[in-house]
Amino acid sequence: MGGREHVRVAVIGSGFGGLGAAVRLRREGITDFVVLERADSVGGTWRDNSYPGCACDVPSHLYSFSFAPNPDWPRTFSGQPAIRAYLEHVADTFGLRPHVRLNSEVRMMRWDADRLRWEIETAAGELTADVVVSATGPLSDPKMPEIPGLAAFPGKVFHSARWDHDYDLRGKRVAMIGTGASAIQIVPAIAPDVRRLTLFQRTPPWVMPRTDRAISGAERWLHRQLPFTRAARRGLLWGIRELQVSAFTKRPNQLGLIESLAKANMARSIKDPELLAKLTPSYRIGCKRILLSSEYYPALARPNVDLVASGLQEIRGNTLVAADGTETEADAIVFGTGFHVTDMPIADRVVGAEGRTLADHWKDGMQSLRGATAAGFPNWMTIIGPNTGLGNSSMILMIESQLNYMADYLRQLSVLGGPVALAARPSAVNRWNRQVQTRMERTVWNTGGCTSWYLDAQGRNTTVWPGTTGEFRKETRSVDLSEYEVIRLREDRPERVPAGAGNAEGAA
Ligand SMILES: Cc1cc2nc3c(=O)[nH]c(=O)nc-3n(C[C@H](O)[C@H](O)[C@H](O)COP(=O)(O)OP(=O)(O)OC[C@H]3O[C@@H](n4cnc5c(N)ncnc54)[C@H](O)[C@@H]3O)c2cc1C
Repeated sequence: MGGREHVRVAVIGSGFGGLGAAVRLRREGITDFVVLERADSVGGTWRDNSYPGCACDVPSHLYSFSFAPNPDWPRTFSGQPAIRAYLEHVADTFGLRPHVRLNSEVRMMRWDADRLRWEIETAAGELTADVVVSATGPLSDPKMPEIPGLAAFPGKVFHSARWDHDYDLRGKRVAMIGTGASAIQIVPAIAPDVRRLTLFQRTPPWVMPRTDRAISGAERWLHRQLPFTRAARRGLLWGIRELQVSAFTKRPNQLGLIESLAKANMARSIKDPELLAKLTPSYRIGCKRILLSSEYYPALARPNVDLVASGLQEIRGNTLVAADGTETEADAIVFGTGFHVTDMPIADRVVGAEGRTLADHWKDGMQSLRGATAAGFPNWMTIIGPNTGLGNSSMILMIESQLNYMADYLRQLSVLGGPVALAARPSAVNRWNRQVQTRMERTVWNTGGCTSWYLDAQGRNTTVWPGTTGEFRKETRSVDLSEYEVIRLREDRPERVPAGAGNAEGAA
């Protein structure tokens, strides 16, 4: 072991999840922790996604930490520079900088069952930790499709999450692949500048108008002087979204009205019946993430923008060939093809108590206990783990719930005392997932007639939370010790001790 550094908690990632965890640890009086970040600055999603038009699609006053309100959000849906600056500000204000280790990609971590600690290899050296909090993000590693001929494409190629700002798109023939949340922000932002923009669409998204506007000086003044106005605004934004949840999770038939509104939004800008037909989804609204934009359809109606209603199948030199045979010449290809979500890359780098990686453990689908812990991986938890995603509200609400769980987990370890670990019982994990999947059966994500990135290779929805954020808050308020085994070191050997009065095994 030599002189390897040891910390109580190693947090991985410095996006909203990792920085939020760091703030919470300090508030719990824990200062013996590090935040390991692979990049050279903090910010996660909001550092990596700097494409033209990048902005949040949940209003800023809700898409921010409750403990770090920002009366000065510039827009109702603020852009990436403002959100990134906010996260930098959080790192400064809460004294997180001394804990953050940049350029420290975690390459591997192994559970040392003899010492009840994690051995962590990073790009900057090795360390050990009692507890690992993995906040590597659900939308952090870009996914590039394997397209025959792509490697030989003579033009420029990049992913929306790794925008090449040195490449000038002005006057170029650009192909945009994909019609997800990033693509619909990029298309209107670049359409006026490029010579020709061809959008490759496998499935049309449902798009609702986005009521984005500058937040006036008077509003900001009011929010600064009278903080309850800011809190009321946040409360209202939250409440409206909570009320929408039951239509998504229990009564998808109620979504017909929203479909009519979305169709009216489309018809306002798209006058060509053929284009309108290509843009009209054939699945229930909400099945895929509902996208918000008031500029997308007007951009598609521009004379220099074409829609190919078919996926990109092959590239021959400069020519992009769609599955329906359409051929398009391009100078640059921008992939808006999403991220590795259901195959979380960090899972390949975590080796648990049984010597297996988390990826191997999850080979039939991700599952965790309360979105946080996994059987066989003691003292390891993830922020935004399986089934914690949202279709309609702010992920920061879910992150903060998970931080409550993390804080209680650490409290419980302290109360237990000594070298000790908590290991999620398989029966508790199974029970939680059965409940989640049973609730999932009625949701629009499973019944709406689409395939989406919410579903894994087996067609199981392992990403979305099938309830309100309030319900998740309640479920993660504290750690139920009966769902865990307590592992202690006795005479230099780890020994498993049944925890709590209740017996999760029996209840399963
Ligand atoms: C373009 C875009 C727009 C979005 N808009 C919204 C929105 O409006 N509302 C909403 O609720 N959600 C939105 N999201 C989802 C968003 O990802 C979450 O809201 C939130 O930012 C996730 O925070 P995170 O800290 O979990 O992950 P991230 O922000 O992705 O941070 C993860 C961090 O972990 C680091 N990391 C990863 N692997 C390693 C490793 N092996 N070693 C060390 N460091 C590592 C990464 O470099 C990164 O800094 C959006 C996502 C994208 C991509």
